[in-house]
Amino acid sequence: MRERPSVSALAAGVRAGDRSALGRAITLLESRLGADQARARELLERLLPHTGAALRVGVTGVPGVGKSTFIETLGRQLTGAGTKVAVLAVDPSSTISGGSILGDKTRMQELARDPLAFVRPSPSRGSLGGVARRTREVILLCEAAGYEVVLVETVGVGQSETMVAGMVDFFLVLMLAGAGDELQGIKRGILELADLVAINKADGDNLEQARRARVEYARALHLMPRKSEHWTVPVVTCSGLSGAGVAELWAQVERYREVSTEAGEWEAKRAQQRVEAMWRAIEWGIMSVFRDDARVQGRVRELELAVREGRVAPDHAAVELLSVFRGP
Ligand code: GDP
Repeated sequence: MRERPSVSALAAGVRAGDRSALGRAITLLESRLGADQARARELLERLLPHTGAALRVGVTGVPGVGKSTFIETLGRQLTGAGTKVAVLAVDPSSTISGGSILGDKTRMQELARDPLAFVRPSPSRGSLGGVARRTREVILLCEAAGYEVVLVETVGVGQSETMVAGMVDFFLVLMLAGAGDELQGIKRGILELADLVAINKADGDNLEQARRARVEYARALHLMPRKSEHWTVPVVTCSGLSGAGVAELWAQVERYREVSTEAGEWEAKRAQQRVEAMWRAIEWGIMSVFRDDARVQGRVRELELAVREGRVAPDHAAVELLSVFRGP
């Protein structure tokens, strides 16, 4: 049988910044066993007073844009300055197919070996919503362990970006120059989430094109509604590979913290995120009670089949199941 450290020992290990305790604590959070979940809740409650101090930054971009190279470079710059950095990932592909777009194991190897860094791959099971919820909690664990910057990496696919944007203080979007359709379609939605846009791989032969793209993106952003009267979304160029522009980019993140703290927006955003997380957890809880309900289970297969075959309208079936659930 697997040995189970007590919750208080685990909490003490996390607080002491012990990376293996932090790893075990995260594994506990990710466990689906009922007993583990109760312990995980207790652990989080114990640690909650020691959370909140980190700068939480989301990093997104399409596969190949250079996220892992960029994060490794940024992470090394930060640890080089004595800052403790945690890197987490939300990988939508791993939750759907068990495969992985982010392919974490071999990535960011140098950073992963850095004693001031903690690199954790995306949980490979569960729905995206479940992964998002656990990631939110893992951020708190990392904060309790003394990490001052938490980078949450995700990929420009589906809903994962919106979810990550909803759990961080600052959302950084990496782009490439010269994709042609740059300012259209899906990318517009991503730009609306961005607190900063960086044209990455601005090096070598790409440099001129990257500079032009920077101007184009800045113009496009200028036409979009502003998220805050205190912050104009900067568009910068950088190279994760050479490191050019990365320190300047980070200076903007720090400046955002100052400006938005002063304006009262920093805490307001976090407060709003906490409330949203509460409602999402309620939705989850209600859904699982609903799915597990014996009365619902007695009717659901038959109704699902009827809906599948087009014999019963979806809304009608939903109303019926809800009334079965509510009871007489
Ligand atoms: P990810 O899929 O977004 O994590 O991208 P990676 O960091 O794995 O990089 C994808 C490819 O682009 C790799 O071959 C990298 O060597 C290359 N790459 C990453 N960053 C840069 C950069 O700043 N400049 C150039 N020229 N190539 C880069």
